[in-house]
Amino acid sequence: MGKDSKIEWTHHTFNPWWGCTRASAGCANCYAEVWAKRVGVDLWGKEAPRRFFGDSHWHNPLRWQTDALRTQQRQRVFCASMADVFESRSDLDPWRARLWDLIQKTPNLDWLLVSKRPEEAAKLTPWGSKWPQNVWMGTTVETQEWAEKRIEAILDVPAKIRFVSCEPLLGPLDLTPWLGDGQIDWVIAGGESGARARPMQAAWVSGLYKQCLERTTSFFFKQWGVFGEDGIRRNKKSNGKTLMGQELQAFPALSWAST
Ligand code: SF4
Repeated sequence: MGKDSKIEWTHHTFNPWWGCTRASAGCANCYAEVWAKRVGVDLWGKEAPRRFFGDSHWHNPLRWQTDALRTQQRQRVFCASMADVFESRSDLDPWRARLWDLIQKTPNLDWLLVSKRPEEAAKLTPWGSKWPQNVWMGTTVETQEWAEKRIEAILDVPAKIRFVSCEPLLGPLDLTPWLGDGQIDWVIAGGESGARARPMQAAWVSGLYKQCLERTTSFFFKQWGVFGEDGIRRNKKSNGKTLMGQELQAFPALSWAST
């Protein structure tokens, strides 16, 4: 599916900047930090600078918008894979303002904002009670503790779609208080990869899937990571992305009366 993104649940990835500060246990093996170091830039932590980009980078979503309009097919944009869009620091404010403007200029793109700081979303966006229809607000929930802390924050913002990304899933989760009744529309789950990956137990994933089924919430299982369904460590590709013999990759239902 992806044109310029390897992530299967999105068509594109857009980074308004690179760099971040770790926020919780899910960040311990942050692939973005590792990737930035690999390309020779040190952008992690409160004291480190962030990396910004020029006009041609910012023009890409406008091209995707033209394409989506021409084909009459909406395209999803994951924002951001190399940063946290709600990291609160003043040097990011002008770039964030540019991002909000870009989102409003691209109504045929669905912008998936995924943050570990959802409590900052209301403060750092200019939309108040009227969010653009093309914004999906997501937060990472790796453990129950973070579910309790972060989910209420995304329920406070009037995004068209609200979702949780349980990746890397680090423990059993009970999301039932927040599923159904117009609360969380979509749950994504996946395991961790890399040398220091932490195991994800099959029962945690199947438990999440069952909760979604019961509450008719869309569920998307990305992949096992380096620990398979049987708990054995092996190559991520060999472990695959089936759960109990099925590929479970549902998206939230959308109605588009207007953009
Ligand atoms: S919030 Fe995301 S980008 Fe930032 S350190 Fe954590 S995992 Fe990495």
